[in-house]
Amino acid sequence: MEGFGEKTSSRGFNRATQAKRQTGSSIKPIAILAPGIEEKVITASSVFNDSQTTFDDGSEEGYSPVNYDGYLGYITVRRAVESSQNIPFVYMMELLTPKTSIKYLKNMGVTTLTDKDESLALALGGLDQGMTPLESAAAYATIANDGVYIEPTFYSKIENNSGKIVFETSQETRKVFSKETAFIVKDLLTQPVQGSRGTATYCKINGIEVAAKTGTTNENYDRWLCGFTPYYTAATWYGFDINETISYNGRNPAGLIWANVMKSIHSGLDDANFEKPTKVLTATVCSVTGKMASGNCTSTYEEYFLKGTIPDLCTSHDLGDGTSGANTNVVQERIQTEQDVVIDEPAPQTDNDNQTVTQSQNTTSESTNTSVNHGTNTSGGTSGSGQNSNTSTNSVTNSSSSTSSNENTTTSQPSNTTDVDNTTSDSSSDDSTETTSTETGSSDETEDSSSTQ
Ligand SMILES: [Zn+2]
Repeated sequence: MEGFGEKTSSRGFNRATQAKRQTGSSIKPIAILAPGIEEKVITASSVFNDSQTTFDDGSEEGYSPVNYDGYLGYITVRRAVESSQNIPFVYMMELLTPKTSIKYLKNMGVTTLTDKDESLALALGGLDQGMTPLESAAAYATIANDGVYIEPTFYSKIENNSGKIVFETSQETRKVFSKETAFIVKDLLTQPVQGSRGTATYCKINGIEVAAKTGTTNENYDRWLCGFTPYYTAATWYGFDINETISYNGRNPAGLIWANVMKSIHSGLDDANFEKPTKVLTATVCSVTGKMASGNCTSTYEEYFLKGTIPDLCTSHDLGDGTSGANTNVVQERIQTEQDVVIDEPAPQTDNDNQTVTQSQNTTSESTNTSVNHGTNTSGGTSGSGQNSNTSTNSVTNSSSSTSSNENTTTSQPSNTTDVDNTTSDSSSDDSTETTSTETGSSDETEDSSSTQ
């Protein structure tokens, strides 16, 4: 939080909690994907035209965002997430509306938005004032926490020398979207990590599923990496207090810090994946149209959907002879696929969202009591420049958050502790320096090139 160099002040400017920065593309999952899927205005396989577009934003000249790495034509949301194509996200924002997006962002704890942010530029993180690393981490933790926002805290409780609790924090929690929506977003966010054209492939952690999204702003003033695992959520920002272009060789420095800190604190933890809720449906879709695959589609993949959002059958890849025989095949295929889909649904179960909330909140309050923060020195000493960075780390289900810089990385304990009382964890990571120097993920990387407009 203090940045590089010698500590010169106490209670000085805390970049994790006070620095409002432009987010670039790291806002896309929280501003668009989660609200858009929850509101059913998009699905993971919705297709948008990734081509130069001037959007009507009420101004005379319109809004003309750009991609820096070229345009891909019609692509699915999943593909757009992978390499962070800007134009499809502006289309998605147009459908969702900035007003609805802001409503969700505020519910995810974002307090820094202004009236000016009610514009299409919100889609690409072109913000009036910006967002803090801590609020970014808390918003991402809402996805990680299955749609439940949990107010971050830096401590859980204070005990006196006889073990009596003299002070205990309480964290506000609220359900923002369904766990089914949360899962689909989690899975979409594995795309930048696992996809061959992903922007965050270096964030892979062996045996543990990682969801991550990069962010970059105009002139390279800001670099972000926001993401989570089944254990922790972290947001990292890298840049100058007064805008200056970040210069570096190779990868996004915010991403490298994120990867090193996260790899370190996950060492020794059990393998873990994001668990698919039973009510999330699976369907085979056409890679080209994003519609339910017919027998004639040549490129298909499995996609996740909320109930009621499975797309219509792809008609772009008919045999083209217009014969009834071909149509019959298509219809039969769809019937077959829908039957498959139905099988994916759980056995009859009362649909009770309130129950979900209660369960989550109980989990939260239990975890809160056991949350202990550790100071883990991960000083990298990477550069002598005045560039600063912050990592805000949230434990996924207890949302205890903490802040750090290149000098000090404070992380919270994993949340899978079942013992509620007096769990004073002591898993200090003395090997973090070694971990810091460990580099994995060498696949091709397309650097994120989204911009604020
Ligand atoms: Zn097709």
